[in-house]
Amino acid sequence: MDDAALLVELGRSLFDRGFSVGSAGNISVRLADGYLITPTNSSLGRLEVARISRLDRGWNHIGGDPPSKEVFMHRAVLTARPDAGAVVHLHSTNATAIACLAAIGDTAPIPPLTPYFVMRVGRLLPVLPYHRPGDPAMEAGIHAAAKTARAVLLANHGPVVSGATLRDAVAAAEELEEAARLALLLRGCSPRALTPAQVDDLLASFGGAG
Ligand code: ZN
Repeated sequence: MDDAALLVELGRSLFDRGFSVGSAGNISVRLADGYLITPTNSSLGRLEVARISRLDRGWNHIGGDPPSKEVFMHRAVLTARPDAGAVVHLHSTNATAIACLAAIGDTAPIPPLTPYFVMRVGRLLPVLPYHRPGDPAMEAGIHAAAKTARAVLLANHGPVVSGATLRDAVAAAEELEEAARLALLLRGCSPRALTPAQVDDLLASFGGAG
């Protein structure tokens, strides 16, 4: 299966399981000679291979429909992280709920409750200040944060998650959403988070810088 076909399949999978609704969310993939990204105003549930936006290495639109207006968020992460092969941005409900809480930390708003969240997303989840969707003023902040974090959380908006491959980025975005759901379920319950030593052990055993 080529990259565009896999993007269509995984977009539909995310949509069908409620990780994305309406035309929310966008996905990009790094190619040898450029990038693929979901088109503007497209639904992840109804993507078509021929209409996926194709961009050259300079992020110029060279094929398919025009790119998502949030393309700069993908550029911010993919230029900051040479190891990242794909980026998934969702408005998934629970992660976005966390992004709407007034009193969250600005580096780790979701506690390390489960090992797969730590393995997929890592130690840091920087929270970036609110900007209106499509505001290019967000790009510098996302770029700076993505240098040390695999995922960031946009306040009052949603997560932007990278992975080594498209499948990895989608899995990480799903894991982040489920971790956010657990964190909200356990609010007020004094859950036992993994200890710093347990987090260190996971990252040392399963890779990832942080
Ligand atoms: Zn968005």
